[in-house]
Amino acid sequence: MSEVILGVAIDAPLRRLFDYRAPPLTDGGKIQPGQRVWVPFGRRKMVGVILEVRSHSELPAARLKNALALIDDSPVLDATLLDLLRWSAEYYRHPPGEVIAAALPVALRTGADAVATAERWTLSAAARTGQAEPLSARASKLRELADFLGSRGAAGAAELGALSARWRDHVRELEKRGWVTRVREDVAATMPPGTHAVAESGPELTPEQHTAVAAIEAAHGQYAPFVLHGVTGSGKTEVYLRAIAATIARDEQALVLVPEISLTPQLVARFAARFPGPLAVLHSGLTDTERLLAWRAARAGSAPVVIGTRSAVFAPLARPGLIVVDEEHDPSYKQQDGFRYSARDLALARAQRHGIPVVLGSATPSLESLERIRAGRAQRLDLPNRTAGAKPPGLHLIDLRAHAQTQGVATPTVLTIQRHLAAGGQVLVYLNRRGYAPTLFCPGCGWIAPCPRCDARLTVHQRERSLDCHHCGTHRPIPELCPDCGTAVKPVGQGTERIEETLTTLFPGAALARIDRDAMRKRGSLEDTLQRIHSGEVKLLVGTQMLTKGHHFPLVSLVVVLNADQGLFGTDFRAAERLAQTIVQVSGRAGRAERPGEVLIQTEYPDHPLLQQLVNGGYDAFATAALIEREQAHWPPFARVAVLRAEAPGRDAPLAFLGHARVLAESCGMAGVEILGPAAAPMERRAGHYRAQLLLHAPTHSPLQRLLARWVPLLEEAPEARKVRWALDVDPLELF
Ligand code: ADP
Ligand code: ZN
Repeated sequence: MSEVILGVAIDAPLRRLFDYRAPPLTDGGKIQPGQRVWVPFGRRKMVGVILEVRSHSELPAARLKNALALIDDSPVLDATLLDLLRWSAEYYRHPPGEVIAAALPVALRTGADAVATAERWTLSAAARTGQAEPLSARASKLRELADFLGSRGAAGAAELGALSARWRDHVRELEKRGWVTRVREDVAATMPPGTHAVAESGPELTPEQHTAVAAIEAAHGQYAPFVLHGVTGSGKTEVYLRAIAATIARDEQALVLVPEISLTPQLVARFAARFPGPLAVLHSGLTDTERLLAWRAARAGSAPVVIGTRSAVFAPLARPGLIVVDEEHDPSYKQQDGFRYSARDLALARAQRHGIPVVLGSATPSLESLERIRAGRAQRLDLPNRTAGAKPPGLHLIDLRAHAQTQGVATPTVLTIQRHLAAGGQVLVYLNRRGYAPTLFCPGCGWIAPCPRCDARLTVHQRERSLDCHHCGTHRPIPELCPDCGTAVKPVGQGTERIEETLTTLFPGAALARIDRDAMRKRGSLEDTLQRIHSGEVKLLVGTQMLTKGHHFPLVSLVVVLNADQGLFGTDFRAAERLAQTIVQVSGRAGRAERPGEVLIQTEYPDHPLLQQLVNGGYDAFATAALIEREQAHWPPFARVAVLRAEAPGRDAPLAFLGHARVLAESCGMAGVEILGPAAAPMERRAGHYRAQLLLHAPTHSPLQRLLARWVPLLEEAPEARKVRWALDVDPLELF
């Protein structure tokens, strides 16, 4: 008789499967990839997921252990998801156990049931055939309950609870006497009745929206990638809603990925208002139990719409019909530590495996997506106009060199704000720097407060009276005097806290709200503030990136970008794209209702081509120019890159490891791949660790992938690797 060997993925940092014998006394024929299994691992008992069922193992028989017990009757991850996960582990060269762990809620990784079950009770066989010990005449309550079950067949807690408040005691007594048995039944895995309807039908579509919805619908049942490009307020969400309604009407599910749910309660509310069926919502703010329930609803198919952040790309679907990735350019779709996957890219890979359409929507599509269209690998859908006749905002540059300033606000900006406030408009001021000032400076000797653990300055937080490092969390009191020369120190530069102070002084009559991570720390404060903005009570909004994501501010008529220059000369090849997207996204908050909007961008470089392109030709003009530059410079999407990063408490170990890694790569034969480095990271020291990196560059993915497949196993074995923390990032978002 041949043995049944299981290749099991275990949540451990090793790039391989672990072999076990099938648990004793299990029918080997019943074991399928995707089922979970308890296994002994070191001295612990762990949950693993079976990826392979084989008849032999490379391990010597003496070292092969028995798996302890199967957890699931059927796979928790279906064949398509398993295939996607195995492919992802290879593509990103990441340990398969950690990849699978990313796809499963914590509760399932610790053995919880994958299927929601309900307890029910029935009369035992003995009771039904009259062989149970008779109930005495005085036990009337027990008799009543037995009769009830006899007439019903089976009943659950809700029905029995209606019979008597003490039903649990009675059931227990009847169980003891052999009258009643308990059964577990899977909770219905179908959509509840009424789910296929939509609660409200939505506005009449514009011709462009209609074309987009029709194209998506026509593609149902086949892989079809779409890039939906529409300015903010052009009705993209309405297109998603209609395409989803059609999906649900076919009894299929839609998966919707969004950048950050906690920041966009409005979007979830809009979905809930449109679709009466249960929404399965998956994001990082859930408790383990909430997450498990949403996951089960997605898998059972009882939730027609599954909406979630990055990791929801792995949510199981009983009847997949459509995937939507909203704001597909958003950096939060790329996981920045551990398993460094791109949910946007995996959404495409997943849709391909299911054979379903996928819609990537954005007002500022990534250059990757635009190139995908050009190469014929995605279909472009355009919504060029705002709905309801709202005009797009006009962009104007304010030359910071030519005007007097009050704490970073130029005089023409002050006057424009005044004009909009006087006309009853709201004004949004954007600055991507929280805190009071980015530097604490000594005018006596030039000393600048440094972070003791990073190559960075400490940020002044005036309200907290603290100096904070935004990289490592160092937190200390503000000194009054310079530690070197004893002169009184002063904060230099602007953060949101200081802009709040400046604007309050300039416009004492206008209620102001600040939205950034510091101001919104308390639970519920974002909702409260959004409410005050929508009611019109707040006149001035000051904030960081947090303000730019997904929010609709129909009363905002003026947007001010206080400083565009931080991104203009960034070292990263994506810096320009990021800046253009931010400016266009922030601008999109202006003039959403009937008011025409205005946008001011303050800069010391008004002639910079990026700003000129945005002002004169909008995002499209920028993107066209940027794609040409990327192609000439051989950067993605016209090349593929991967970064090997290493860090350690000493300066030498990361460089030594990366130097050795380079030699190993050369020994693998690097046909078509170029290696740059090792080099210290631009911020070399962070949280007390020295960091360095090696860049791999290839014209296409396959030579890179071939090299990685041979190289990474060698890195794992290298003795130098034990002296550092290292990580590989395939398709990195940032090179540094
Ligand atoms: P986006 O997702 O592109 O920002 P939305 O779908 O949120 O755009 O639409 C912006 C606003 O216009 C919303 O208030 C929405 O209800 C409304 N809207 C969308 N489509 C239409 C339409 N066809 N007719 C009238 N109003 C619409
Ligand atoms: Zn620091």
